[in-house]
Amino acid sequence: MTNDTEPMTMTQTPDTALSTSTSACPSAADDPRPVIIRTLRLCKSYHTGSVTTEALRGVNVVIYRGELIAVMGPSGSGKTTFFNMIGGLDSPTSGRVFIDEVDVAQLNAVELAFLRCHKIGYVFQSYNLVQYMTALENVTVPMIFAGLPHEEAQQRGMALLKLVGLEDRWHHRPLQMSGGQQQRVAIARSLANEPAILLCDEPTANLDLKTGREILDLLVRLNHERGVTIVCATHDHRLLKRCDRMMWIRDGSIERIRRREEVAIEVGSIDGEHE
Ligand code: ADP
Ligand code: MG
Repeated sequence: MTNDTEPMTMTQTPDTALSTSTSACPSAADDPRPVIIRTLRLCKSYHTGSVTTEALRGVNVVIYRGELIAVMGPSGSGKTTFFNMIGGLDSPTSGRVFIDEVDVAQLNAVELAFLRCHKIGYVFQSYNLVQYMTALENVTVPMIFAGLPHEEAQQRGMALLKLVGLEDRWHHRPLQMSGGQQQRVAIARSLANEPAILLCDEPTANLDLKTGREILDLLVRLNHERGVTIVCATHDHRLLKRCDRMMWIRDGSIERIRRREEVAIEVGSIDGEHE
């Protein structure tokens, strides 16, 4: 079930319609911000028995610090695989991922753990909260891993719960909260160690439309107010209308990358990803 299905049309304006992207990302070449994520000929194959699936086929992408990027593409197109690769959660079959121009493949286990703990926050479709822990405990777990003293973790945890509008629920366990509230806790947890990057893989897929939009509003606010670089898989126009760029993945390749201004987003017509 997804709430990303509200019909919409995305039309390329005539002057950009011809500049499709087999190169890295032509429409951002003049961005003055530092590069925070870069992939080079990124490939990932899965082998299941005798079947090989090429989930990513040579993805070249450059993402700048502070960007808000929407990732779109049909189910099975490689979005989650892409997130797993740039998040250092799984290794590519070939190709490279650079975070802050550091080649992730060159990191040892400790450095990789540091990267995952400090630099990148993860928000998934399923909230992945620890059921027997309170909201506050869930949010402070990554801080404890990072070695923050208990008092400080508690204070920062409460501040993050306040940021996501849940300070009065700090003692609730996941089962005592709605899906939207659980996702808010997951977002607060993702921010525990003040990551520069937030990777959100269909964060509203299990939520109703209204709640999903509140979550997307929160992500947009985090991007605008805190400058967190956000890469978010969604088709919801709530985020599309306010992102910097949109990226379409199809069959493991980047089909297009466009700046928001280059795409007309209209609600009420056919979903643009199938145009
Ligand atoms: P999306 O997130 O866009 O739905 P995925 O990245 O999950 O796409 O999947 C891309 C392709 O890789 C699909 O064909 C999927 O079946 C396959 N795939 C994903 N994960 C695995 C896995 N662990 N083992 C085998 N095949 C996989
Ligand atoms: Mg997926």
